[in-house]
Amino acid sequence: MKPLIIPFFLRNRGCPHRCVFCNERIISGNAEAITKAGLRETVRATIAASRKSGPVEIAFYGGSFTGMAREEQMELLRMAGELIGEGSVHFIRVSTRPDDIEGAWLDTLKNRGVRAVEIGAQSMDDGVLRESARGHTAEDVREAVGILKEKGFETGIHLMAGLPGDSREKFETSVADVIRTGPDTVRIHPVLVFRDTELARLYERGVFRPLTLEEAVSWCKVALARFTGAHIPVIRLGLQSTGEMERAGGILAGPWHPAFRSLVEADLFRDMALELIAKAGGIDSGQEFHVAPADLSNFIGMGSKNLAFLEARFGSRPVTAKTDPSLPRGALVLRDGAREYRTSIAEVSLV
Ligand code: SF4
Repeated sequence: MKPLIIPFFLRNRGCPHRCVFCNERIISGNAEAITKAGLRETVRATIAASRKSGPVEIAFYGGSFTGMAREEQMELLRMAGELIGEGSVHFIRVSTRPDDIEGAWLDTLKNRGVRAVEIGAQSMDDGVLRESARGHTAEDVREAVGILKEKGFETGIHLMAGLPGDSREKFETSVADVIRTGPDTVRIHPVLVFRDTELARLYERGVFRPLTLEEAVSWCKVALARFTGAHIPVIRLGLQSTGEMERAGGILAGPWHPAFRSLVEADLFRDMALELIAKAGGIDSGQEFHVAPADLSNFIGMGSKNLAFLEARFGSRPVTAKTDPSLPRGALVLRDGAREYRTSIAEVSLV
């Protein structure tokens, strides 16, 4: 059952320096400092507004949890621990840097209710990590995930597409490397140029060019297909929209879209439709596409983009799509009388 994750932002606490792309003020929506009363009230209000019935997790994001002074870590764990003791929260998740993982301290975190640790890898290419001023290597990521798994934590990895020095090939190699590392979940987002960052200065000097939205969708659809094929859930694709992002001047450049994941999934469904039409030897009026109800909008595409594309490619005949509740999310079926052709995000041949 999917957990209800309630995020609280550390606002760069525990970070040894600033990575070139990072503006936590914008990403966190200028979140307030974490206080005992604020944490309690946010948890209460989020649970009351949620329709999820799974476990509730408090997440400390937006900094390097294990990089903070140990007393600061304990203070946050005590605040969250009170809610665990009362039964309203079940676990704690934290995000941190791969070079801030220390085996003995992890035992303390575990005893205090931390179940999941998300590692900010961002890339598995050492040159890209250097150019992004991350201050760690890909090997640090592999080691950190290894230690966390050994200690029995759920592990997550964050990846970014389009960092300084990145290329499509390096990004795909990073994806393959993360799959080999074997985290339980991943989060991916394309690089945006936020104001007041080193990246903004590089962009303004013409040294850094962010991906276009089309490039970002194309890179990330490969990642989503590969991770899905490897049974590693992509629990977030694209950044959560915040008021600071929507405000003029917050994002200077980059492939920003508030529904980025939908764009990526729609692109995959278009590729899947093309694959099934090729398997069926063309499309005619007796055929119908079937998808899970939650995927109908992905099949159709934003603004009916996919339907328009297919109809332009295969003539004016309307492409018919129906929902089938028996199908899992991410699957597409083309039915043609008694014949049936199937594919899914995990199996698609990418265009
Ligand atoms: S470690 Fe994470 S939170 Fe800290 S500066 Fe780098 S990207 Fe930002």
